[in-house]
Amino acid sequence: MTGTPTDRFARVRALHGLPDGAVERWQGASVLVAGVGALGCVAAELLARAGVGHLVLVDRDIVEWTNLPRQLLYSEDDARQSRPKASAARARLLDINSSIRIEAFDDQLDGESIHSYAHGVHAVVDGLDNIEARQVVNEWCVDHRVPYFHAAAVGWEGRSLACLPGEGGACFRCAFPELPAPGTLETCESAGIFTPAAVRAANAATAECLKCLAGMEAAVDRRLHSFNALTGEACAIGPIKRDPDCPCCGRGERPFLRAGAGSRVLALCGRGAMQVLPARGAPPVELGPLLARLSREGDFAMAEGNRLVGTIDSGAAGRPLGLEVHRDGRVIVRGTADERQARLAVSRYIGT
Ligand SMILES: [Zn+2]
Repeated sequence: MTGTPTDRFARVRALHGLPDGAVERWQGASVLVAGVGALGCVAAELLARAGVGHLVLVDRDIVEWTNLPRQLLYSEDDARQSRPKASAARARLLDINSSIRIEAFDDQLDGESIHSYAHGVHAVVDGLDNIEARQVVNEWCVDHRVPYFHAAAVGWEGRSLACLPGEGGACFRCAFPELPAPGTLETCESAGIFTPAAVRAANAATAECLKCLAGMEAAVDRRLHSFNALTGEACAIGPIKRDPDCPCCGRGERPFLRAGAGSRVLALCGRGAMQVLPARGAPPVELGPLLARLSREGDFAMAEGNRLVGTIDSGAAGRPLGLEVHRDGRVIVRGTADERQARLAVSRYIGT
């Protein structure tokens, strides 16, 4: 009988090496997709199509026109209506598979909110765009012994890593112990992003997630994969081993979870500006490299008092935003009274 829902997974079950009951395991599983941008759209769609029974989608952004070349779940209408990404993704995914439960939260994932959004999930797939949120997810996953499937992409490059709990299993921080200073990492705004690189990274992370949920832990690839879609170079390091001296899984430090609600935003009364404070314990900003990067986005200069001042042409609302970046990590965003827009501008142009 073709065309009936009952045979939907016939080609999946036919896979040699997939254990009996794998489809049912997926149906009984709950997965947090942390961020539904370029990476998270791919992960969420693959999981929904596999029939994973419960998806939790969390993203603080709205759909914009510049998202459409790479964020595969969204339409022009989503951008026209400025729909929140998590809600728009949920609607699209329910068209694809109406038999699963999908919860959408149009919110920031931080040291406070993760406790409710990740509660009870069996795995987390990384669709995030900043290192701070990734550390939050990693710390939570180590505490709750939940597998974390990391993916990242910027420019032509991408990478993925499966972090499984248990004997010898490395966490994200074992692989990346150093915290980059704010402003030193390229972002999709500064380096652009090649859509197939993001798809490849998210695809790799989600493949390991599905294998893990299917009961195939021994077959999960624990190597750190990196590739460059421009040159075709790819490498796999590892398997990454647990580092007994890892600040997170070895020494038990939880700075990102303890920081609570991420960077804080304060309105500067009467100035049409918002002040975004860095997360507690964040290292100082390296203004030199940041100036070089921001100069590609707008007119920026060093100003007295150890700060960078300039204007970004493309604010989320289509008008210029003034940015003033202090060495201690404080950023003043002028031209908006919207907390979300201020936070977004800082995350995009400064990086966190
Ligand atoms: Zn670790």
